[in-house]
Amino acid sequence: MSLRIAIIGAGPVGLTLARLLHALNKPNLEVVVFESEASRYARQQGGTLDLHPDTGLAALKEAGLWDEFKTRVRYDGEALIICDKKLVKYLSLTPKDEQSSAGRPEIDRSSLREMLLDSVPSEMIRWGFRLREIDENRNLIFDHGVESGFDLIVGADGAWSKIRKYLSDEKPHYSGIGGYIFHIPNAEERAPEAFKLTNRGSVFSFSDGRSIMSQYISDGSLYVNAWCPLPETWRENLSHDADDTEAIKKWVLDQFHDWHPDLVDFIKLAEQPSSSSLYELPVGWRWESRPGVTLIGDAAHLMTPFAGEGVNVGMQDSLMLSRAIGKALESPDPATQFNTTELVNFEEDLFVRGERVTSLTKDMMNWMMFSDGSPRSVIDKYILRIITFHDKGVRDYLRYPLLKGSLKSWYFLYRLFH
Ligand SMILES: Cc1cc2nc3c(=O)[nH]c(=O)nc-3n(C[C@H](O)[C@H](O)[C@H](O)COP(=O)(O)OP(=O)(O)OC[C@H]3O[C@@H](n4cnc5c(N)ncnc54)[C@H](O)[C@@H]3O)c2cc1C
Repeated sequence: MSLRIAIIGAGPVGLTLARLLHALNKPNLEVVVFESEASRYARQQGGTLDLHPDTGLAALKEAGLWDEFKTRVRYDGEALIICDKKLVKYLSLTPKDEQSSAGRPEIDRSSLREMLLDSVPSEMIRWGFRLREIDENRNLIFDHGVESGFDLIVGADGAWSKIRKYLSDEKPHYSGIGGYIFHIPNAEERAPEAFKLTNRGSVFSFSDGRSIMSQYISDGSLYVNAWCPLPETWRENLSHDADDTEAIKKWVLDQFHDWHPDLVDFIKLAEQPSSSSLYELPVGWRWESRPGVTLIGDAAHLMTPFAGEGVNVGMQDSLMLSRAIGKALESPDPATQFNTTELVNFEEDLFVRGERVTSLTKDMMNWMMFSDGSPRSVIDKYILRIITFHDKGVRDYLRYPLLKGSLKSWYFLYRLFH
């Protein structure tokens, strides 16, 4: 017997699942991806993502895309500065190469998507299918028609998932942070100092509940975020013209009026502003399992970008789900085997992994954006949290206090002189 699967959403997570399932090479498996955008060229894909060994990179390896990934990846993108508004640096990592990599190389979002799209048969993706809802009989109601008969429907449809509504009434909550995303094309020429500071990697600056972030993209541009504490309705009550780039920049520059000129340059020299508000699902949110439908990626565990883990845990969801599906396909009745056994096991594991990552992200956000005196006051516990998250061995009785003590002492001395 065969298994028919619909994936809703051709974002990085849905496409990773599509590729992993394609790589299973099972004749009794049919996979269709429904995507609302009209084509792969419909939208610019934005910034860059660092993929991590146990999650994003593990998924790409199992998907057979490692060699292709290595032709696109940027190890020098691991250069990172964490600083405050005066440009006092609290963490400064140099660019890496393949040998010296800390295992978190960067890839442009557009490049990741292109690689994933090219890795599956084009007829697997149905462009221009915007899902409105899924009814109680698991019919998929699109703007222009109805599709049905799937044994499993996977919601990889991001923050405002329509599939989530079938499983729960939960909706994303506003994090309290909003702002603008900008772009500096041809940055080496147009903004040489900003380009030099970013060093083909990232600059994350924080102070007073605000943040300017810059990331290098391999087309030579910089992708810049300016985040501020704002009420949820801020975009409805703008004091500036939403279509006037100069007016937007002036408003943003006012928010950062006492910041170091080199950081302010990221805004001054930028263009193409687009507004953004950051939403999240509650830490530890879960849904009651229902046969035939599940969620992965942001649809399952939307979080703010402050830990840089969203796409990684999402791609891990795809990896775990593809394994669960692979297991079900070994049974004589894959649909029943999946929906009675594998689905619940997959979701239980997802809830545990999702809670771990959303809790990390919440801490990172609270410490950097909502704590007095950040990053100065929180940097040691911030770094300790990241290290212990990724290296579970650090939690042993000897290494943890040693690491904690070293970080505290180092930053105590650092603060004395900076
Ligand atoms: C500013 C910012 C920076 C970030 N930086 C990082 C980072 O550095 N590292 C990291 O790991 N994560 C980062 N993230 C998080 C990361 O972007 C997300 O976790 C990731 O994109 C989730 O992928 P996804 O495929 O689940 O959802 P999405 O990327 O949202 O993709 C969902 C897809 O579903 C489609 N879709 C939506 N609704 C429908 C519908 N009704 N019908 C059909 N199709 C639909 C969409 O068009 C889209 O193609 C960042 C997020 C933001 C906002």
